[in-house]
Amino acid sequence: MQTDYKLISRIMAKKNIGADLEIRGWLRTKRESKGISFLNINDGSSLAGIQVVADSARLENYQSLVPVLTTGCSLRVRGELVKSPAKGQEVELLAAEIEIYGPAPAESYPLQKKRHSFEFLRGIAHLRPRTNTLGAMTRIRSNLARTIHDFFHRHNFYQIHTPIITTSDCEGAGEMFNVTSLDLARLAEQDDQLDFRRDFFGCPASLTVSGQLEAEAYALALGRVYTFGPTFRAENSHTSRHLAEFWMLEPEMAFFDLADDMNLAENLLKFLITEVLEQSREDFNFFSRFVDKSLPARLQAVRENNFVRISYSEAVDLLRKSGRNFQYPVKWGTDLQAEHERFLAEDYCQGPVIVFDYPKAIKPFYMRLNDDGRTVAAMDVLLPGIGEIIGGSQREERFAPLLARMEESQLDIKNYDWYLDLRRYGTVPHAGFGLGFERLVQFVTGLANIRDVIPFPRVPGNAVG
Ligand code: ATP
Ligand code: MN
Repeated sequence: MQTDYKLISRIMAKKNIGADLEIRGWLRTKRESKGISFLNINDGSSLAGIQVVADSARLENYQSLVPVLTTGCSLRVRGELVKSPAKGQEVELLAAEIEIYGPAPAESYPLQKKRHSFEFLRGIAHLRPRTNTLGAMTRIRSNLARTIHDFFHRHNFYQIHTPIITTSDCEGAGEMFNVTSLDLARLAEQDDQLDFRRDFFGCPASLTVSGQLEAEAYALALGRVYTFGPTFRAENSHTSRHLAEFWMLEPEMAFFDLADDMNLAENLLKFLITEVLEQSREDFNFFSRFVDKSLPARLQAVRENNFVRISYSEAVDLLRKSGRNFQYPVKWGTDLQAEHERFLAEDYCQGPVIVFDYPKAIKPFYMRLNDDGRTVAAMDVLLPGIGEIIGGSQREERFAPLLARMEESQLDIKNYDWYLDLRRYGTVPHAGFGLGFERLVQFVTGLANIRDVIPFPRVPGNAVG
């Protein structure tokens, strides 16, 4: 590995004026005038690139270089860092040597200087990280992930790696991708009976929709744990907030009740947003300027206000009294739709809101039954512009009510016997939640479509590139 070159983000400081430096990166733009080319080079280490001055008087190979210096080519430049006489940058690099690694012919390179639509960029998912927007998103996404680990480390949590292949449908929604080693094409040809005993695991298996059940087993041994990994849902939703493959953060805490769970969720969001604004200021400012002007105010509302907490029943009352003409009618016992969630967060609270105690019929089997017998100790955190970002609950720690809910939900109990053991032996009150990582990145960047906050989005009809 070459370590003698410097990242552009590290050298663009006045104190380096006069130094002989080498950088490597990709050419973003070129402006030519009278035997001098002004090149903007970016190496991904920050939003801003560096201006390189290529002067025919200083570069022997200037004439042969010029045709190859097109947007997208990769190059190495050595030269002196000088104070820039022009506006727009403090310093620039006066090239003494330029070497091209690989050209990017202008006739075919899809990323030209102009602004491209998000939709166009989705069609070239492998090249779009070279744009300002996707580059800034990627740096923010990375900082958020690291900050998540920081937060849990500070609060004495252990990270656990829960399996990606499972035999339980945790959410009970049946939105699973099957995992099989059977030859499906041959099976179809033979018009054969599907016999899972002949399959790899000897039974139907699928990609995980949540690591929660496994996280519970570890919380009931290590106290506080979290799992953070890819999650898969075969839901056929063509929305700007759903992916077939997304990343979910799931903390699980022994001896936590629903109030503790809500407090942790609120503290986590506040911490992540405060930290990312510090760490990614330049990228964040880019999104505030070019993507969503109301971004700073919305993030501030999360950092500075207490999250409003209302019960599901209160929320239903509020929605009914709102005088709004919702597409989906509001009725106690039905799930809140995105339009209802957004009314609560955007209009009613104008900030984050936590809705708790949902009807048991619309929530999964593992949530703790409340004393009223008709609601469960669930909570959803709703954010303006996003809607639901977190869904969590206190878990049903009592054996009998849990078994009853499992039977009601028509689960195949033998697949969950291990889960019931957690209640048979040393059960304790515990709680946790799931945070959709891409929705968090959306909230922090203001990017409207979830397909633009993950490198290679997986959605109905597309798993290529
Ligand atoms: P929604 O009602 O928005 O579909 P959900 O109730 O199915 O969400 P949970 O099962 O509670 O969501 O999952 C926890 C979190 O994971 C959600 O709050 C959300 O942030 C995120 N999430 C859920 N489904 C998806 C998806 N298909 N794509 C991206 N993120 C998702
Ligand atoms: Mn869903």
